[in-house]
Amino acid sequence: MSFPVSKSNSGGPVQAGSQRVSMSAQGIRKSFAGKEVLRGISLELHQGEHVAVIGPSGSGKSTFIRCLNLLETPDNGSIDVLGERVFSAGDPVRESQVRALRLRVGMVFQSFNLFATYTALENVSLAQRFSLGRSKGESDDRSEQLLRRVGLEQHIHKHPSQLSGGQQQRVAIARALALDPQVMLFDEPTSAIDPEMRVEVLQVMKALALDGMTMIMVTHELRFAQEAADRVAFIADGEVQEIGTPAQVFGSPKNERTRRFVDAVS
Ligand code: ADP
Ligand code: MG
Repeated sequence: MSFPVSKSNSGGPVQAGSQRVSMSAQGIRKSFAGKEVLRGISLELHQGEHVAVIGPSGSGKSTFIRCLNLLETPDNGSIDVLGERVFSAGDPVRESQVRALRLRVGMVFQSFNLFATYTALENVSLAQRFSLGRSKGESDDRSEQLLRRVGLEQHIHKHPSQLSGGQQQRVAIARALALDPQVMLFDEPTSAIDPEMRVEVLQVMKALALDGMTMIMVTHELRFAQEAADRVAFIADGEVQEIGTPAQVFGSPKNERTRRFVDAVS
């Protein structure tokens, strides 16, 4: 199968995914207290494509991902999901649009944010009942199926405190998947987890990628990015400095800063 070569500066050939654009951000800018953290970031994500975002800490990666889900409101730029404009700077942000966006775009954070007083099953079921109006039976069935998929069938009735960090993060992934998103955003999902537990989370993400989920993954795990991503974007100082295939970005970076970052971390 051959895929079309993407035009403009979007990073060369698209290795996987279809021609259809799932999500795109154009010229996203964001300042906090007068300090510009994002200086015009554009990214086009094709259906089924997996893009890894790497870069030094403080460079704006989380802010960018949060803007994509409108957890932060960009000061400038626009965002489209599945061909529909969900944000355009200057236009009022409607609550109904934000809710629709969050159903289509799931997010997994560095901290798992599970409800401590609920079991794994309940954590995965709750949003389905409240956001999608699924019945208890229906949402519990779906939750069980998803918890099995992330390897937690033995733990569905446990509370977060009885689970390791890696297990909690897999519950969080199941919870995001339970809303049947079209795109998944991951913001350093393994950075708060003990090293020996990280691999199980990365395996779940790899399996999701192989299943064809469209994903943007901020990660400091460069080997994982190399293996799981179709394209890698290097962000520094609030700008995409370089974007391309893992072979290009890791193997022969064009940008001196990318080279220094990749050399230092690997
Ligand atoms: P990264 O995820 O690449 O480490 P962030 O997007 O978290 O970077 O942060 C980029 C910069 O924006 C940092 O200097 C950070 O302190 C600042 N920042 C992020 N969120 C906020 C906020 N809500 N208020 C003020 N400053 C923020
Ligand atoms: Mg971050």
